Amino acid sequence: MAERKVDPSHMEKAVAEQAEAKLKALFKQMKHKIPLFLFSQNDVNEPFTNATRQVIKAVRQLTDQLSFNEYPLDHKLAQKWNVSRSPTILFDPDRYKIRWVGAPAGQESQTFVEILLMLGYQNSGLSNEAAEILNRIKEPRDVKVFVSLSCPYCPQQAVGVVRAAVARPDLVSAEIIDVQADTERAARFEAFSVPQTYANDKLIGQGAQSQELFLTSLEALEPKTIYIPSIKGDTLENDLVIVGGGPAGLTAGIYAVRAGLQAAVVERDVLGGQVATTPVVENYPGLTQVGGKALVDMLVAHALEYVNIFPGEEVISIQPGEPIIVKTNRRTFKTRTVLLATGAIHRQLGIPGETRLSGHGVSYCSTCDGPLFKGRKVLQIGGGNSAVTDALHMNHIGVDVTLVHRRDTLRAQEMLTRNLELNDIPVMYNHEVTEIQGKERVESVVLRDKLTGDSKTFAADGVFIAIGYQPAVELASKIGIALTEDGYIQHDERHRTNIPGIYSAGDVEGGFKQIVTAVGQGAEAAMSIFEDLINPYWKQTTP
Ligand code: NAP
Repeated sequence: MAERKVDPSHMEKAVAEQAEAKLKALFKQMKHKIPLFLFSQNDVNEPFTNATRQVIKAVRQLTDQLSFNEYPLDHKLAQKWNVSRSPTILFDPDRYKIRWVGAPAGQESQTFVEILLMLGYQNSGLSNEAAEILNRIKEPRDVKVFVSLSCPYCPQQAVGVVRAAVARPDLVSAEIIDVQADTERAARFEAFSVPQTYANDKLIGQGAQSQELFLTSLEALEPKTIYIPSIKGDTLENDLVIVGGGPAGLTAGIYAVRAGLQAAVVERDVLGGQVATTPVVENYPGLTQVGGKALVDMLVAHALEYVNIFPGEEVISIQPGEPIIVKTNRRTFKTRTVLLATGAIHRQLGIPGETRLSGHGVSYCSTCDGPLFKGRKVLQIGGGNSAVTDALHMNHIGVDVTLVHRRDTLRAQEMLTRNLELNDIPVMYNHEVTEIQGKERVESVVLRDKLTGDSKTFAADGVFIAIGYQPAVELASKIGIALTEDGYIQHDERHRTNIPGIYSAGDVEGGFKQIVTAVGQGAEAAMSIFEDLINPYWKQTTP
């Protein structure tokens, strides 16, 4: 049989015709007119202007819902709508604040078509969850998304931004900026990789985001990396409620659900616990080095595949019984078991000036606040792994940091202390801070030399404190859970506490307080709970 030859140019033509027919059908059902305005200036970005004219002309052949007007940049309408760059497209500017600097060509032709469909149908296409987040935003948002014609991820982000502007024209303005058509702003905003998104001139997204993640970032005015869907219900029934969303709690959630339990993780503060504010985590098996926040994002994303997470929700009370009643500030859980993975909170020095100047130069989180002290003088207090890691991190980001330790040797690992020397970070041994001074912010500290007993004032802009942690046992104490002499939760090798059905895992148990030990304890506790629920030890009677 003779081989059938296919001419590639015929194939392409057929595909293009099909796409055109589909578009025509979609455009045909559009109920609303779309006024488009193009502003341009001769000799400025002419290839972009010409490409824009061509695209608009091509689309107008598919629908008559598009009206088109072109004006020079010095026209009074340009002034009216505050247009100063060539070429700029405005979409229905009396109704929406949507503009585009550059040409809707290449990968971006997809964005252009999506915008027209949104406007023609007057439907933003936002998911219910995304619309809910958008409706929580009360202040205006001026969004800029930097794109390039060859970026395959850009249309998703640009379309997401425009959806918000279509859904809330009273609140959100959207501007799509081609980095090649507006090199000045691309450089000013340091948009060196696209898509990059800013709201009210603050970076809120690098890379493409889902609708919900974009809107969560838009709400917070900072880049968010994880979106956690909100769960409704005043009363929820569970097999297990995990209090605390650090490594122990999240791991327990994964293992419990995998074992078939209905579980929930409730976290009042930051998911990931202390790890979220640790600059660099070393030697988490499989990862020589990883950023604390990056590790938390991976953990949370993994846990979300299994377990319901309730972030920003605080457990107020736990009432033992069958079921155990766990009350949060938002709802009630009726549960068969509870796992306390409440972790530990940072210890304070307890010296004059510490509380008063907290947040005004006194900090317990170098990852959060270190960048604010770039080029400034800071004391890092402590001699353990945390203090040394934090000092190294701040040195790395350009903070003038000195480590102050109360003894003559550091408790931190050899590898970390060696790095202090390698980076010429000064260490003041045998010194303790006895007072932090400053009117409105930290100006100096009083340091006592423990060998001579002499005190001196040392000028500093910041004091970073990393002197260990105290277990978070308020809830446990309230219900009579036995504690160790050091104040940690007393537990057996199966992570059972003295109250039936209530377990513990992670730093709140004391021990080595490593991320790897916490995840191990979380997994162990979940497996114990699973076995105990099949065969409850509290119901067993001795034969
Ligand atoms: P830590 O190991 O308990 O060290 C606390 C440090 O603060 C000690 O050097 C202690 O001095 C000092 N200190 C305590 N109270 C003080 C006070 N009132 N005034 C001045 N100094 C005071 O705490 P951490 O460094 O936060 O570490 C906690 C746990 O996390 C540890 O198990 C640690 O190994 C782990 N961790 C691991 C990594 C890692 O990358 N692998 C990173 C961070 C933390 P003394 O030495 O005189 O007692």
